[in-house]
Amino acid sequence: MRIVLISTPIGFLGSGKGGGVELTLNSLVSGLLSLGHSVEVIAPRNSKLNKGNEKAKLHFVEGEDQISWQHQNYNSPVIIPDNSLLAGMVEKGLDIANQADVLLNMSYDWLPIWMTLNINIPIAHIISMGSESSVISNLISKVYSKHPNNFAFHSKTQANDYPFIKKPIIIGNGFKLDNYIFQGSMNGPLGWVGRVAPEKGLEDAAYVANKLGEKLRVWGFIEDETYALKIEQSFPKGTIDWLGFLATDELQKELGKCRVLLNTPKWNEAYGNVIVEALACGVPVIAYKRGGPSEIIRHGQTGYLADPDDKKGLLSYVEIIEKINRKNCREWVENNASTDIFANKVVNWLNKVINEYK
Ligand code: UDP
Repeated sequence: MRIVLISTPIGFLGSGKGGGVELTLNSLVSGLLSLGHSVEVIAPRNSKLNKGNEKAKLHFVEGEDQISWQHQNYNSPVIIPDNSLLAGMVEKGLDIANQADVLLNMSYDWLPIWMTLNINIPIAHIISMGSESSVISNLISKVYSKHPNNFAFHSKTQANDYPFIKKPIIIGNGFKLDNYIFQGSMNGPLGWVGRVAPEKGLEDAAYVANKLGEKLRVWGFIEDETYALKIEQSFPKGTIDWLGFLATDELQKELGKCRVLLNTPKWNEAYGNVIVEALACGVPVIAYKRGGPSEIIRHGQTGYLADPDDKKGLLSYVEIIEKINRKNCREWVENNASTDIFANKVVNWLNKVINEYK
């Protein structure tokens, strides 16, 4: 199959601004290449694909980023800036897709989804977020009624955010296992990984660290400086150890040393890449029972699920984290979320989409 991928219109690949989509795209490219497919990626200028993905052809587009939907009001209109990066990527994608089998869109935005209605090229969409915008949800509903196969979701809970989707196609996510090394030590620090932004609920993890009189190690791109400062000032100095955004190989080394990862989203997280990255290193995860994390974590086997927003619940599970066998964590990833498993699911789905256009 010849597959053309459109990346996120927020930040170049490798910047961290695109959140989990950056890693998902790289995992997918790696899985598709290993299955023998040909892959081209349309991405913002300066983007880099991970090591091992050199066989994928990268096409650069310049332009203005989109504003992320999770930081706009639910009823905000679509804004397409002058010299739009998204429009440039869609244009280039459609051009190349003329000689390909399918255009696979990984941006959560209006324009590529709307194009599905107006062009006879198969455009498939990996929806990377829950319902964050009325205009996008209404458009998905409209396109879904004509092309029910063209959308895939990472988790069932995420798909439930779109109640008009009757039989959601769930593809999970994939992780290149060689990139993560198992670490068995159970005496490490508390860890937290993610974009530093209000929907990620870092303050609840800081609460736990403070109650235990420990430091919380935090890795990730600071998307919202005001929010980060507010948390920093709400807890005794030094509670948070700000460690910045690291590339996967560095991140996994540090993450693997942790005795537990706290994952505290306040929104309906579509999947939660960082959870699986921690599990792949043998690190159990404690999260709230909402969104993707509630489908990934096996309560009592690979971590614990506390009631949503129950910070004391998180704390009580940290106190019994040594009951989790770290080997179970790694094993779950090997059996459920490798790049091959992921790419196979995506290929099966894309075949369905392509057949619809024959
Ligand atoms: N990440 C990273 N380096 C860091 C912190 C985070 O590469 O120092 C990546 C991480 O690997 C993950 C992504 O950032 O793929 C966050 O994705 P997630 O699905 O957890 O949340 P999102 O940001 O998409 O809401």
